[in-house]
Amino acid sequence: PAKPVFAGQLPKGLQTISNIIAVSSCKGGVGKSTIAVNLAYTLAGMGAKVGIFDADVYGPSLPTMVSPENQLLEMGELDYLVIDMPPGTGDIQLTLCQVVPLTAAVIVTTPQKLAFIDVAKGVRMFSKLKVPCVAVVENMCHFDADGKRYYPFDSVQVVQQFGIPHLFDLPIRPNLSASGDSGMPEVVADPQGEVAKTFQDLGVCV
Ligand code: ADP
Repeated sequence: PAKPVFAGQLPKGLQTISNIIAVSSCKGGVGKSTIAVNLAYTLAGMGAKVGIFDADVYGPSLPTMVSPENQLLEMGELDYLVIDMPPGTGDIQLTLCQVVPLTAAVIVTTPQKLAFIDVAKGVRMFSKLKVPCVAVVENMCHFDADGKRYYPFDSVQVVQQFGIPHLFDLPIRPNLSASGDSGMPEVVADPQGEVAKTFQDLGVCV
């Protein structure tokens, strides 16, 4: 990879941030923004000072997913900045990863064979940049209806072979999409729920 633009020096404005976490996916629509938002609010709920930055400039979701009254901090002194990355592993993503000193990455995918190549690309990009991929979230892995569990994808755990330490399954939950649309993150709306527990585990490992 090319040298970072700010060789050896942190960009001004990022110097007061302890940890910068990239939430990344290789395809659009797999739930990256949903995971970025809920992860950020989980970390804040754990007592950390947290900011969230929507770097998905061509398809920003945060203005909808976080209503003004639920907003986290602006820049400033932060324990965590969560970056909702643009989907993919092209030049924009690469440059962003080179400019911003990332602490760790979380990759979001759906659990299907089709996603395997994309996850591999993401893992390769972060590994080249020496950014540890601490977790993969296999989103929309199942849903429950009529007392049965359904697996809308082929339910392959796509990431076992990448040696990423933590793997999380997140089910399809109507509440999760409704909360995204209403500007009130699910982990804030239902802090004791099953979804909130999954995000607490994810929060501990970033
Ligand atoms: P991306 O950032 O990858 O494009 P989004 O986070 O915007 O994806 O999610 C795409 C859509 O799917 C949104 O409408 C969101 O509310 C919904 N969604 C994401 N994850 C889930 C889930 N686990 N259960 C239900 N809906 C979800």
